[in-house]
Amino acid sequence: TERTLVLAKPDAVRRGLLGEILTRITRKGWTLAALELRTLDRATLAEHYAEHQGKPFYESLVEFMAAGPTAAMVVEGERVIEGFRALAGTTDPIAAAPGTIRGDFGTVTRENLVHGSDSPESAAREIKIFFPGLI
Ligand code: ATP
Repeated sequence: TERTLVLAKPDAVRRGLLGEILTRITRKGWTLAALELRTLDRATLAEHYAEHQGKPFYESLVEFMAAGPTAAMVVEGERVIEGFRALAGTTDPIAAAPGTIRGDFGTVTRENLVHGSDSPESAAREIKIFFPGLI
């Protein structure tokens, strides 16, 4: 089985959608290996979003992500890396299919509710950033 790093971003937490997101994850058959509510600092965000540094949306993304608590979690299960991204929907919530988390609850690309690692390599890298002690 696989593990992936999922973030319920500050907009999701603020809007009371954390329970809904956890329900969708566990109802799918996946399990939580770690879960923590934490306001992310700029150093953590710079590391997590290293590939986006220099892009036009980077500063506003970090600003948004640092503005309130995020629920960081490690989700475990069958094909969870690809599967969680399918559950989340495409980056732009207006384009995301209804039935997905972003498609059902979002309208703004930056405030698209969740993050999920996009490959096994990203998952390993990101899990280490958020849960360095996790076995
Ligand atoms: P994530 O990596 O968070 O799962 P993703 O792979 O769908 O999302 P990326 O292209 O990696 O999207 O962008 C990372 C995050 O940056 C997006 O989830 C979104 O919050 C924000 N973002 C991406 N593109 C834009 C944009 N054009 N304008 C504003 N914010 C953006």
